[in-house]
Amino acid sequence: MPQAEFNVGVVGHVDHGKTTLTSALTGKWTDTHSEELKRGITIKLGYADVVFKQCTRCGLSSAKERCPKCGAPTQATRKIAFLDAPGHETLMATVIAASSIMDGALFVIAANEKCPQPQTIEHLMILEAAGIKNVVIAQNKVDLVSRQQALEHYGQIREFLKGTPYGDAPIIPTAANSGGNLDALVSALLETIKSVPRAEGKARLLVARSFDVNKPGTPFEKLFGGIVGGSIVSGSFKVGEEVRILPGALRTHKGKEHYQELSTKITGIRVGDESLEEAKPGGLVALATTLDPALTGADSLVGSLLFAAKDEPPAVYSSFSLEITPLSRLLEKFSSSFASNEPLVLGVGTATTIGFVTKQKKKLCELTLKKPVCASKSDVIAVMRRANNRWRLYGTAKLVA
Ligand code: GDP
Ligand code: ZN
Repeated sequence: MPQAEFNVGVVGHVDHGKTTLTSALTGKWTDTHSEELKRGITIKLGYADVVFKQCTRCGLSSAKERCPKCGAPTQATRKIAFLDAPGHETLMATVIAASSIMDGALFVIAANEKCPQPQTIEHLMILEAAGIKNVVIAQNKVDLVSRQQALEHYGQIREFLKGTPYGDAPIIPTAANSGGNLDALVSALLETIKSVPRAEGKARLLVARSFDVNKPGTPFEKLFGGIVGGSIVSGSFKVGEEVRILPGALRTHKGKEHYQELSTKITGIRVGDESLEEAKPGGLVALATTLDPALTGADSLVGSLLFAAKDEPPAVYSSFSLEITPLSRLLEKFSSSFASNEPLVLGVGTATTIGFVTKQKKKLCELTLKKPVCASKSDVIAVMRRANNRWRLYGTAKLVA
């Protein structure tokens, strides 16, 4: 089973233990966020997958070769991928992008802080807006509190989830750094995250990463083509297939910037260390292409959409009208109208762009985009707005025209 069947987003407030939990569950360390934060660049998503196993005797789920409860051998059951989303408020756009390729979520809430914290609220709203159904809560860091405090905190989580689609979501106490109760968490995850109905139809991949794997100075004839990574949201792709990418690559012509559609061919499909002939919806895949690697380096294609060359291309917008609906639990008070030319950060699929409000009529807003995006009427677009020098999740929007 090379390709994971599920992408589980690991979300929650900064420092609540997302990265620790992801590495404890998968045995792999996901990209650390802190280094990237220091450099002030766009955050990459941490990504790791794991094959879960089931005990051949008692049925307990774990990631281990032998059952942690009864010691009997285990059997591989399902491969699940974890997307470790940054919890820092300035990186909300990355979480929004990640939510477009999550099939479920592991929501980490630390027991040694009052619930909810600001990003606990925002992440919950993002999951809700993205329509993510399969959610498990890890009440983490229970080793730092007394039993009584843990119970009170559990009550705060239940209260916080009340009235949301996650009112009955399982809450599993964990101590991620010592591996405490992770078996129970794995069982709850496998139980909750049943197979999701996959969108049939045209082959579409949302680009979540792109790389140039060549070392500097590699001679031209030895260059390896650009790599495009992401999650397939519908259909499938095969090695040898001709594909196109929109909006594509940023180019400068006579001092003016524009985006150029790219056409290429899939020369290989990889998941971790394994090669595949065909990739389907689910865990992230990396497509090797014939593109000039200079076009794919440094995540330059993140947010683009890759599709079969034979299919009708998706629509690309550099301005559009949105119907914007504010969320019910906002962290700041906002005026119901936008200032003229007010900038909004928009999350559309894995793309993040800035839109300037050029016209407003009740809920309808016309926006001019700094960077064009692929969008369709079925997309849920996340809208962030500036308040007190911070970008806050403000609402969701639908494309009108
Ligand atoms: P993230 O920002 O949510 O990814 O949080 P990290 O995984 O980076 O964890 C933040 C800090 O909390 C680190 O120093 C971890 O070692 C620590 N930590 C994580 N989980 C636990 C836990 O269950 N118990 C305790 N005592 N510390 C934890
Ligand atoms: Zn067992």
